[in-house]
Amino acid sequence: MQRPSLLQSLKTALQGKEVIYQKKRADYSVDGVEAGVVVMPGSVEEAASVVEAAGREGASVVAYGGGTKMGMGNRPRGVDVVLGMERLNRMVDHQPGDMTATFEAGVPLSEANRRLGEKGQWLPLQSPMPERATIGGILATAYSGPMALGYGLPRDWVIGMRVVNADGRVTKSGGKVVKNVTGYDLHKLYTGSLGTLGIILEATSKVAPRPQVSRTLVARFGFCREALEASRGLLKDYASPQALVVVNGVVGNLVGLGDGWTAVVMVEGRSVGVETRVVKAREYLGERMEEVDEGIWQRLVDMPWREKDGPTVCVRYNVTTSKVGEAMESAGAEDGVIVDVGMGVVRRLWWMEGDISKNDLNMVAGRGEWVVERCPPGLKEGIDVWGEAASVELMRRVKAKLDPKGILSPGRFVGGI
Ligand SMILES: Cc1cc2nc3c(=O)[nH]c(=O)nc-3n(C[C@H](O)[C@H](O)[C@H](O)COP(=O)(O)OP(=O)(O)OC[C@H]3O[C@@H](n4cnc5c(N)ncnc54)[C@H](O)[C@@H]3O)c2cc1C
Repeated sequence: MQRPSLLQSLKTALQGKEVIYQKKRADYSVDGVEAGVVVMPGSVEEAASVVEAAGREGASVVAYGGGTKMGMGNRPRGVDVVLGMERLNRMVDHQPGDMTATFEAGVPLSEANRRLGEKGQWLPLQSPMPERATIGGILATAYSGPMALGYGLPRDWVIGMRVVNADGRVTKSGGKVVKNVTGYDLHKLYTGSLGTLGIILEATSKVAPRPQVSRTLVARFGFCREALEASRGLLKDYASPQALVVVNGVVGNLVGLGDGWTAVVMVEGRSVGVETRVVKAREYLGERMEEVDEGIWQRLVDMPWREKDGPTVCVRYNVTTSKVGEAMESAGAEDGVIVDVGMGVVRRLWWMEGDISKNDLNMVAGRGEWVVERCPPGLKEGIDVWGEAASVELMRRVKAKLDPKGILSPGRFVGGI
C-alpha cells in the first residue's frame, strides 16, 4: 500500500529526481508481497537519501538486484520501498596489476566478467542466470555454485564494501588492496545476510587470471554408490577438480546428461597441468569418461531456479562430506538430486502437483541442517525456511545494533530477523 507521507519524504529526499516508479509496484513484489513504491537510485548519495527518508518514516526497505533469487528467505513482513539496483551498474575501478576490481552492486555477474575479461581476468563465482544476477545479490545471498570447491565462496573474494546502513549512513569496510590489516571484516557480515543488516552499494573484490584451459568431463554410473566412490577418489588424488557434482537421472534428463548417476568434473588451469590431471581423472572415471561442452555447468546451476520447468521445492542440506552418500541414497526415485561431493552440499528438488501442505514440506525437508531455497510463497507462512539456526540469539543482537527499527528486509532472515 502506498503511504502519502512516505512518498512525499522520498520526493523531498531525492530533490525531484525522476527515479520513483509507482506503476512498477507489481513487477517488484517480494515473495508475493507487493512493493509500496519502487525507487531506482543512480548514485550512492541517492540510495542513502532513500534509506534515510524511509527510516524516518519507519518504512521497510528491500533491495532488488536482478530479481533472480528474491524467492530466497522468509516472506518479508513488509515492503514499503523497493530499492532497485538497476542504475547502480558501473565498474568503478579495475586495477589489473593489483588484481582487484570495484563494481556497483547492480552490475550483473556476466557483465562484470565481460569487463574483467578484456584484461584476461575474472571473478570466479557462479550464479543462476548470471546475465541478470547482480554482484550485490550474489553477495547478499552468499550464493555459490560448484566452482566454490576450487575457487572458494563469494565472501572469500570480497575485500571491501560500501554499504548504506539502516539510518541512511554510508559506511565503508575493508579497502582496495588484497592485504587489509586493520579493522573488522564487516563485509563478511553483510555477505549472506540477505539485505537485513545493510544494503550493499559497491563491492571491491580480488580477481583472478582466467585459466588457460578448461575441460569438463562426465561419466555415467548405474548406481549412486559407484558415482560417489569415483568422485571421492578424484578428490583425494591429484586430479584436483575445480568443481565436481553428481546428479541423478531426474536432473540429468533435464540438463541433457541422461539417465543414471552422472559425475560432472571441471579441471582447469595451465595447459600442461590440466593434461596430467585429466589422465588422473580417467583412472577413476574409467572408459565411460567423455568430454562435454562447459555450458553444462550453467545449465546445472540454473536448473533449480528455472522458471518454466524448475522444481516446486528445492531444499539444500549442508552435511559433512562423509554423510553425502547417506543423503544421496535417501532420495526417492522421483526426486531430483544435485550433490556437491567435495563441499557436502546436497540439493534435493521436488516437482509437486497441486496444493502442497506444510506437512509435505516438513516431510521432504526432514531433519538436520537444511535451508528451503525455493518453494511457493504461501507455504512459507509458519515455517522458517532457514531451518533451525543455532546462533539465532547472537544474530538478533547484531540486527538490533545495526537496524534497531527493523526496517531492512524485515522478517526475511533466520528466526524472522
Ligand atoms: C542478523 C544477522 C546477524 C549476523 N550475525 C553474525 C555474527 O554475529 N557473526 C558472523 O560471523 N556472521 C553473522 N551474520 C552473517 C551471516 O551468518 C552470514 O550469512 C555469514 O557471514 C555467511 O557465511 P556463513 O558461513 O554463515 O554462511 P555460508 O556457508 O556462506 O552460507 C550462506 C548461505 O546460508 C545462509 N545462512 C547463513 N547463516 C545461516 C544460518 N545460521 N542458518 C541457515 N542458513 C544460514 C545464508 O543466508 C546464505 O544463503 C549475521 C547475519 C545476520 C542477518
